[in-house]
This record gives sequence, C-alpha cells and structure tokens, in this order.
Amino acid sequence: MNKVEQELEYMEKVKEYHQGKDVKYAIFTMGCQLNENDSEKIEGMLVGMGYTKTEDSKQADIIVYNTCCVRENAEERLFGKLGEIKKQKEEKGTVIAIGGCMMQEKHITEKIKKSYPFVDILFGTHTLYKLPEDIYHILENRKKIEDIAYIDGEVIEGIPIVRGDHIKASVTIMNGCNNFCSYCIVPYVRGRERSRSPRDILEEIESLAKQGYKEVTLLGQNVNSYLRVEREKNIPFEEYRGVNSFATLLREVNKIEGIERIRFVSPHPKDFTQDVIEAIRDCEKVSKIIHLPLQAGSTSVLKAMNRKYTKEQYLELVDKIKREIPHVVFSTDIIVGFPGETQRNFEDTLDVVKKVGYEQVFMFIYSRRVGTPGDKMENQIPEEIKHERFNQLKALVEGQMEEQNKTYIGTVQKVLIEGTSKNNENMLTGRTDSNKVVILEGDKNLIGKMVNLNIISEHMWYLKGEYRG
Ligand code: SF4
Repeated sequence: MNKVEQELEYMEKVKEYHQGKDVKYAIFTMGCQLNENDSEKIEGMLVGMGYTKTEDSKQADIIVYNTCCVRENAEERLFGKLGEIKKQKEEKGTVIAIGGCMMQEKHITEKIKKSYPFVDILFGTHTLYKLPEDIYHILENRKKIEDIAYIDGEVIEGIPIVRGDHIKASVTIMNGCNNFCSYCIVPYVRGRERSRSPRDILEEIESLAKQGYKEVTLLGQNVNSYLRVEREKNIPFEEYRGVNSFATLLREVNKIEGIERIRFVSPHPKDFTQDVIEAIRDCEKVSKIIHLPLQAGSTSVLKAMNRKYTKEQYLELVDKIKREIPHVVFSTDIIVGFPGETQRNFEDTLDVVKKVGYEQVFMFIYSRRVGTPGDKMENQIPEEIKHERFNQLKALVEGQMEEQNKTYIGTVQKVLIEGTSKNNENMLTGRTDSNKVVILEGDKNLIGKMVNLNIISEHMWYLKGEYRG
C-alpha cells in the first residue's frame, strides 16, 4: 500500500467517525497559486472525510489555515486570526489545523505552541498528504499533533482534489527550489527541486480538458527548470510522449484537445532557454504574456540577491524574446529596498521598467525573513526610504499601464469568459491573453467560452469589451 492509499483508508475512518453527523470545514489560504493548489488538495481530502464546506467559519467543525511565509504581514494575519478563534475553540471544540510554509519555520511553530496552545494540528509542506491521518488521531485521542518533516521533499501523487473553478485550473508540475535567492525563504520551507512525471501531468490535464476546463496554469517555484535536476543528475524519470523538459512539456500540453489557453508561473530568467522561447512562439495556446521576474534592475543588487543575471543580461533576454515572439508582452515581480540598495541602484530598476514596458508589475517592499542571508545583511534600508521608492515605482508603473490600456481600444481581443462580474451581476468578466480583465454585457451562456471582443474603453484595472456574436 502506498502512502496515499494509506491516507485514503484514514479518510474512510474519519468518515465513519462522523457517520450521521453534518460536519463542516473552513479553509483560509494565504500566499501564492501553489498554496492555493495545495488548498484544493486539502479540500479534496476534507470532502473525502465527509466534511462539507462552509463560508462561515463559526459553523465549522474544523478550520484549516494554509499559511505562507514570504511576507512578514502573513504572520501578523495568522496570529490575529488565532486570537479571534480561541473563544470558538473553547465553546464548540472546533479542530484547528495549521499547515503550509510558515509551519516549516521553527520559531513560528514554537510561538504557536506557547501562545496558542489550543491549536490541534501543525503540519508542514512535506506532510500535507497526511492530514487525514492527523485528523483521525486528533478525533480519537485529542492529543496535539505536530507533523512536520524537515526533508528535501518528495513527489506524492493521487491526493484527491476539489477545484475552486470550473474553467481555469492550476497544475503543479514541480516543487521546491535550488536557487537560494538571498531574500527568499522558499528553498528552506519547500525543499529541493523535484518534478512530477510527464505522464502524471499530461493525464491530469487531459482529465481537466474532459471535465470542460479551458485554461491551465502550470505551476512551479522555478517552473522552467522542470526536469532539469533529473537530467543533470541522471535521476531516472519516465520520458512520456517525448517530454523531457519544460519546452517539450509545453508542446505536448498544447496538443491536448479542449484546452484553449496555457499559462505558467514562475520562470527564472537564468533558465529561459532557447527551446522554451521557441515552444512559446510555436504553441498557439501558450499565452504570449511572459512573467519574467526582475526583482531588481541594478546588477550589484541582483548579485547581492543571488539572482545569477545582470541588468544587461535580463534586458538582452527581453529583447531576444521580443524579436522571436511576435506581440509578446511581459509581467514581472520587483522588490524595492533590498539591503544595500542605493538611490542609483533603484534608478536602474526604474530604467528597466521603462525599457521593458511591463503589462503588469507585482511590487513588493523588501521584507526580512528569518533564516535568509538577506536578513543577516547589515545595510538594511530604512522603512521610509523603502516606502518612498515603492511609491515612485508605483507611479511609474501605473502611468505605463494607463498608456498601455489605451492601445487596446479599437482592437479585437480573444477573451476567456470566466463568470459574472463581482461588482455587477449583470456584467460578464473574462481575461485577455495578456491577462487584462475585460468586462462586457452578454448572455451567461458565454461563460466558459473563448470569444472575440471589441475593446471599447479602458479603465485603470479593466477594459470594457463588446461581443458581436
Ligand atoms: S527562484 Fe529565488 S525567489 Fe524564486 S522560489 Fe527560488 S529562491 Fe525564491
């Protein structure tokens, strides 16, 4: 019996334990799309154990927090939520489980055990699949469980999943990271790079296509180094339908009938090889917006960040991609205020932003993470300077976005209609290939369809389109 089969048995045992009772769950997810995908697996296991979902956590018999540790405010949010939940725990006996990246940090688990002793289960990134077993034991014995492994990580297949969307789906293709950027905690909490097998990925996407999903996002901390470690270290893997790299995977996913759009996050510029550029160019379903994390524009800051490329190399890569892929656009991540960043260094970041002309920029103020080299650097930047630079960058990015949005007016865009607008039930919403939100008036039977829209107006955060049938 493999590890997941064992957990399926525990799921049955929990179901039996609750037989005849209407038990409910609530999940709070923090962080990135990989965490959201993990939460879909947590939901899959909870549903398999007989729980049903409630949006009102006060009604929940079990509450699961799936945490992130990339930014400091996530800790404050978690502790705030735990403070609020204490009374419910005392009155109702709700099972409280906390998992995810933050649980791989010992100073956090120590704080939880000391300050929030009512928490029942602490589980880490490598032990997520054992949640049924942990829940079973807590129900049976009422003894606190700390189920955290400090390992490089392994690939676990077959965990049940309940997806939050019926049109777009995320598929994790690899996990962990070997890059150790000096600001980032991910390699310490998610372990070393390991890729899922091509067969498992392709079968999962084929099954999604059969269920009617139209868009898939391939996920990984370093998505374009898919199978790289396996190839370099001669770790055996089964080559399936010729897939032995990220580029060949893109080409195979592109052939899957029913899937109409393919996205991927997050690639690393240093692994953006020629074969990947060609695959994006050749595969009509692969979105032509490339997320290319810059992090900083200054070569000396990039060196301190351990990013393994210079400002010039990054710009050369952008130029090369622009030359090879018609109509390509870019999005990026930028951190301002990394230790040692001077005003001049920061201006290099502004310079790259002006030169590339990103469609979307995810901007972050540098946040110290315990255990990373960046946290130990002495030349930390004062908060007010970080905020000043952030605001300057934001003004530049918003100005560029406004200009770019105007260029959409009068164009025809291929838009996947995702549902009704959150702000107006009578309007539909979807996204262009370049990930711009578009709203339109239209019949609800357009939901789930890829349609051509005329773009008639632009607003800061969305475009307005018109469907002409
Ligand atoms: S590539 Fe760098 S930023 Fe991305 S997960 Fe790895 S260490 Fe973190």
